Amino acid sequence: MNASLHEAATAWRRHLHANPGLTLDEGEAAAFVVEQLRAIGVTEIETGVGGHGVVATLRRAGGNRSVGLRADMDALPIQELDETLPWRSRKPGVMHACGHDGHTASLLATAALLHQDTGWSGTIRLVFQPAEEGGGGARSMIQDGLFQRFPMERIFGWHNWPGLEAGTVAIHPGPVMAAGARFELVFDGHAGHAALPHMTRDPVLGMGHAIVALQSIVSRAVDPVKSGVVSITVAEGGTATNQVPARALIRGTARWLDEAVGDLIEARMREIGQGIAATYGLSCEVMFRRGVPVTINHPAEAETAAAAAASVTAIRRDMAPAMTGEDFAWFLKEVPGAFVWIGNGPADNGRELHHPAYDFNDAIIPTVANYLATVAKRALTEG
Ligand SMILES: [Zn+2]
Ligand SMILES: [Zn+2]
Repeated sequence: MNASLHEAATAWRRHLHANPGLTLDEGEAAAFVVEQLRAIGVTEIETGVGGHGVVATLRRAGGNRSVGLRADMDALPIQELDETLPWRSRKPGVMHACGHDGHTASLLATAALLHQDTGWSGTIRLVFQPAEEGGGGARSMIQDGLFQRFPMERIFGWHNWPGLEAGTVAIHPGPVMAAGARFELVFDGHAGHAALPHMTRDPVLGMGHAIVALQSIVSRAVDPVKSGVVSITVAEGGTATNQVPARALIRGTARWLDEAVGDLIEARMREIGQGIAATYGLSCEVMFRRGVPVTINHPAEAETAAAAAASVTAIRRDMAPAMTGEDFAWFLKEVPGAFVWIGNGPADNGRELHHPAYDFNDAIIPTVANYLATVAKRALTEG
């Protein structure tokens, strides 16, 4: 990538950072993407795909193969910490703390590279996705006919990774990121005077036992060589110190890298809830709402990604999966593909994902765009 494109892409990234849009509110970012794509010379652009999604198509005669590259566009409800940053968010309480500004700018830079490059043939789809941060954006695009309206044989995505050396690409042969669920256990009993506990059925007692018992799922039920997380993050009970309330509840999140572990966590959670309710004369309703599935790379496409990455930068193949989720998982359930991490540099001074001091590292844009262009071109000729 020449210096002027790197400079332009850095300006795009900083513009997006200064003007963030929350999940499901990416209209400005989508309009900016369209404006820059047109300036680059891309003419085949579809907007409003699954919400504020944008799909651009690049074609070169001579090939009938197709591939997709994906970036996400949404920001987070976090107040930016660094008030001196020249490109700080102009919207109070909203910031690009996950680097989706960098993902979008890098895919625009990739569009510029591929537009100038005559060394490929076929169809390349650039997928600018809304609502990655828990807003169901990937599924909305799929339900809006993404893969029927814009056919692509494979899809590749990436996330910047603080703590991984800047520009290094990490590839996983299988699971990359975890599946997750939000859960809630509601215990209902019988309210009454706290000094007359024998007249009540106490849901706070049940809730307390549940907080402890749920910790037995990962430690006692899940095979120790597999991974699982059960974190209880909310506990709510009564309002008065002298009343046993009628209801108490806990909420939290569960994560896993193997769908069988997810099924086991849900089953044990229901058994524990019912068992405790029976023990203390309560009723218990268990809600287990699954979010994204496990992000699992397809083996052949992981190799395509590794070969492409190795031709442009350093690679790592020794990193364990992360227990965070990524809704690119939904795309990988539809077509083969791979999701990689690209180092954002040191995670010092709060340069961590979802931290109020996070900022995307513009220095990695050339490596990212080179990787994306290279993996797309490889996918058009391989297999
Ligand atoms: Zn995020
Ligand atoms: Zn993210």
